[in-house]
Amino acid sequence: MYQKIKTFTWTLLYLLLWVRFFIAIFDPVTSGLSLEQGLAFYRDWRPAFDWIYAISGYIMVPVYWLYGWIGPLIPQNNWFPGIYVGQLLQLVVQLSASQPAIQSAFQTPFIQQGLVGYIDWLVLIAVLFYRGLSPIMDGLYDFLKNLVWNLMIEFSFTKTKESKYREALEKKASDLMKLNVEYRNLSKEASMLAHSVITDELTKVYNKRFFINKITECFQSAKQGKTILAIAMVDIDHFKKLNDNYGHLLGDKVLQAVAHIAKRNTPGDCFCCRFGGEEFSIIMPGKTTEQALQIASTIHRNLPLLRFEEDPELRVTASFGVCVADFRLDSAQTLNTFEDFIKLADDELYRAKLNGRNRIECNTLQ
Ligand code: GH3
Ligand code: MG
Ligand code: MG
Repeated sequence: MYQKIKTFTWTLLYLLLWVRFFIAIFDPVTSGLSLEQGLAFYRDWRPAFDWIYAISGYIMVPVYWLYGWIGPLIPQNNWFPGIYVGQLLQLVVQLSASQPAIQSAFQTPFIQQGLVGYIDWLVLIAVLFYRGLSPIMDGLYDFLKNLVWNLMIEFSFTKTKESKYREALEKKASDLMKLNVEYRNLSKEASMLAHSVITDELTKVYNKRFFINKITECFQSAKQGKTILAIAMVDIDHFKKLNDNYGHLLGDKVLQAVAHIAKRNTPGDCFCCRFGGEEFSIIMPGKTTEQALQIASTIHRNLPLLRFEEDPELRVTASFGVCVADFRLDSAQTLNTFEDFIKLADDELYRAKLNGRNRIECNTLQ
């Protein structure tokens, strides 16, 4: 029951305030004008309106006071600026409402009469603006701002330039990728070419061109640096006969097999080369007689172990001429060119052939 009375009272009060508000909108008296200047309605029902004003006024005064005091302290309270703006406008309109120039601006008598209460319209408009329109206006403002901003970005010089730069950059990147691929292919080709330039096509060991360059370099550096240089000349025995008996194709196969064994048993710091025909040469920088002979004999030992399906009885042997020059000693220093050095190794090879082939002969210059 108490709750119902309370709700009823609050509803009445609430309605009263709204009725007062809508009555006041067109009331000439609230604008400080005479009753003759407003609608007839306001003259005929004057006493009733005055009661409504009186009662609602008593209710509103403390509310307005509270608004005035507490309002500014409440954050985010959009009502109060609205009320103040409305009151300010009310003051401006009151001052100018009696001016004939302003009054004559409204031609229609109904509008003219209706608008005499427009002081409260202004309050309503101000409040509506702050309560209702301002979020919409804010939204609209944000929307327009973003639109303009996006449009500016879309058509701006920077954007055009940026997209051009990006395009150019992308093109450059793809060109670079292509170049990179080309470069890799080229460098692969180049290294293959470089490899092929120094490699013997048939036997895949170093070729004569490489041999000449390497022996020149090794001879000079050993002579000047007073270090040891060893070389082994390897010549397959009776190879002409082998070719005659089995044909050149098997001859080639034997050459490949011999080269493979020689290469496999040549240390990483030495160089196995095809000197020409069925002759190979192993350059062994820094190797002592003992080491050089060890390398030569390993190859020598392994050659007769080769087997060929064309004739399982076929045995391959080779003769070796080894020469070791120790340039720390005077005897080696008498060698002036690498040709002299090779000649000594060749002499040993010749000796090996003379002494019955399939053997190693060695000359150590000390
Ligand atoms: P020796 O024991 O005295 O060295 O006798 P040899 O028959 O091995 O020596 P010779 O110099 O008389 O013969 C070498 C032969 O090697 C002659 C040549 O036909 C052959 N030959 C040279 N290069 C190649 C090649 O690339 N493939 C083949 N199948 N034979 C080759
Ligand atoms: Mg020969
Ligand atoms: Mg031979």
